[in-house]
Amino acid sequence: MTAKILDGKKLSKEIKEKIANDIKALQKSKGIIPGLAVIIAGDDEASHVYVSMKEKACESVGMYSKSFKLPGTITQEELLKIIDELNDDEKIHGILVQLPLPPGIDERMVNERILPSKDIDGFHAINHGRLFLGEDSLIPCTPKGIIELIKYTGVPISGKHAVVIGRSNIVGKPTAMLLLRENATVTICHSKTKDLTSHVRSADILVSAAGIPNLVRGNMVKEGAIVIDAGTRVVEDKLVGDVNFNEVEKIASWLTPVPGGVGPMTIAMLLQNTLKAAMMK
Ligand code: ADP
Repeated sequence: MTAKILDGKKLSKEIKEKIANDIKALQKSKGIIPGLAVIIAGDDEASHVYVSMKEKACESVGMYSKSFKLPGTITQEELLKIIDELNDDEKIHGILVQLPLPPGIDERMVNERILPSKDIDGFHAINHGRLFLGEDSLIPCTPKGIIELIKYTGVPISGKHAVVIGRSNIVGKPTAMLLLRENATVTICHSKTKDLTSHVRSADILVSAAGIPNLVRGNMVKEGAIVIDAGTRVVEDKLVGDVNFNEVEKIASWLTPVPGGVGPMTIAMLLQNTLKAAMMK
């Protein structure tokens, strides 16, 4: 079997076109232009690249965006003050704080300061909690994009065995929760899992988000599985996932490339969440 490529670039483009139309309609009916504020502190190169991609994406769909490029010496208090101002800013519907933050700043405290209704990353405890309860909420962008990609295959998720590698609050845990919501039987694997291969081998749907290049090899994957590679590591200036693409391509039915799979979907979901936040007003 040769896997079909799950093209996140193509799907995200389709989603962005729909978002652009919805923004035009929202502007017409209610006079609202969705606005996103992006805060970045310090000069981590990869983070600056992500922020400029997000700015460009906003522009491409007709969204308003405002960036705060802060020095790495910013204090927590100063950062919280900016968030307070953005919470009160009528033109801003979504607030995103690019991680990682400089040392000495408490990421959780910063996330908790953003109004849940403007928390388009879905990292506030209220939004995590709503996701856990199965209530409507702002859902973290990468997990949301992963589910969209799986749905795009047309293969039903219900009743399938889904294995998620990684239990981070940003990717692994919320992805597992969303798969559960779609009625999959879900296994979460992590760094203390014994015999990763035995779990992965029975996965109809495999999502890997460990950030370990070459973690998922061809001989671990079930014939015909859907494989989503959400790993992001920069190796020699190149973005690499967790999955050995050449090996797994011969076994899986569907496979996401890196780059061009989960990454573009994350940005499309960020725009979708900002639009949703603006529409909730
Ligand atoms: P992200 O938030 O991008 O998913 P993190 O680095 O925060 O990435 O989390 C990596 C996750 O991968 C952790 O939950 C960790 O337990 C998991 N992990 C790391 N090594 C392995 C491994 N060998 N097998 C399975 N899971 C692993």
